[in-house]
Amino acid sequence: MATFVSAFNELPLENLVRQSLETTPDGVRSAIVNPAPDLKDFCALISPTAGNQLEMLSRRSQQLTQQRFGKVLRFFAPLYVSNECINNCKYCGFSRDNPIFRLTLSAEEVRTEARELKLSGFRNILLVAGEHPKFISNGYLAECVRVAAEEVPGVSLEVGPMECDDYQPLVAAGAEGLVVYQESYERQIYQVVHTAGPKRDFDWRLETPERAYEAGFRRIGIGALFGLSDWRYEAIALAAHARYLLNKCWRAQLTISLPRLRPCAGDFEPLTILSDRHLVQLVCAFRILLPDVGLVLSTREPEKLRNGLFPLGITMISAGSHTEPGGYTGAGQQNLHVTEKGRMMPLPETETPGRASATGQFQIADERSPEEVAQYVRKLGYEPVWKDWDPAFSSAN
Ligand code: SF4
Repeated sequence: MATFVSAFNELPLENLVRQSLETTPDGVRSAIVNPAPDLKDFCALISPTAGNQLEMLSRRSQQLTQQRFGKVLRFFAPLYVSNECINNCKYCGFSRDNPIFRLTLSAEEVRTEARELKLSGFRNILLVAGEHPKFISNGYLAECVRVAAEEVPGVSLEVGPMECDDYQPLVAAGAEGLVVYQESYERQIYQVVHTAGPKRDFDWRLETPERAYEAGFRRIGIGALFGLSDWRYEAIALAAHARYLLNKCWRAQLTISLPRLRPCAGDFEPLTILSDRHLVQLVCAFRILLPDVGLVLSTREPEKLRNGLFPLGITMISAGSHTEPGGYTGAGQQNLHVTEKGRMMPLPETETPGRASATGQFQIADERSPEEVAQYVRKLGYEPVWKDWDPAFSSAN
């Protein structure tokens, strides 16, 4: 069966980037007012020329967002269940060669974390894990989903890509959403930054959202990690991917994330820069191209920028996030010592007085508590929404 890979291979991405760079002011104006914008309009919206008309873009984006979504912002929290991983992704703190403290929470520890998040108001949780075959073969992830779904109505997953058959038990356990970022749509860069492990297979990853949909997930999240390749190239490919999925996986709700690289273990330096201003332009361009798609903004971005972006086109935000397993309650904390090879290993309880948390995936930038963010959202005149999914919606499909 044809997948996005064939469509992707046909995309004239370099030409589209060139067209974007050559956009005229007229091209920008017609893209903004086009009631049915296409990929060429999107190229105009992310052009340097459109960058000089950011106010006009912002107004259109805000207007479309309020029309389609109302003045609400949906809250979710990532819950990291494990930082074990068999891949080496140069930009990630969990890369298998990084000498960090690895921890996989037990299902009961996952429940403890989910309860804590529930106390903070969250009803929508994203379970995050590195990639490891044992998570599937021993039913670990399905058990994590089951306990989290007993605590909150909305459970999604951000885990290593799987076969459709391996996704089905996760859907049956109560997961309704799957998030998978392509990271980079530029094949060469993809190979450079993914140096070992199954993640090196670009096409397998690119087809993941379609396998997830076939398995029964009804929310699908995609994204690119900005800081690896030319941002316009990544954005155009991501926009094409989103349009393809909206057509093919039409019963699913689609969200798009635009994460930028953050400091992490391994000290990887971004290869390219997406500036704050360009990130704002990108959010507006995606909103104008895809008025009904959810746009996600995480705590990777600093408070001031997030505050400015909330009313412009964003529909879903995280708050008070931790990127280490056990980060919300201290679940799984252990005494540690450093081995000769520089790895951190647990010590018996009696040997050291201090206890350490597992290492996080990256540093967050907005450190406000969920309630502080919610207060700001209310001050803006928006309603913070904690619950936007109920398992009853699935049975109605
Ligand atoms: S990005 Fe994902 S797959 Fe890559 S090392 Fe990090 S956790 Fe593992």
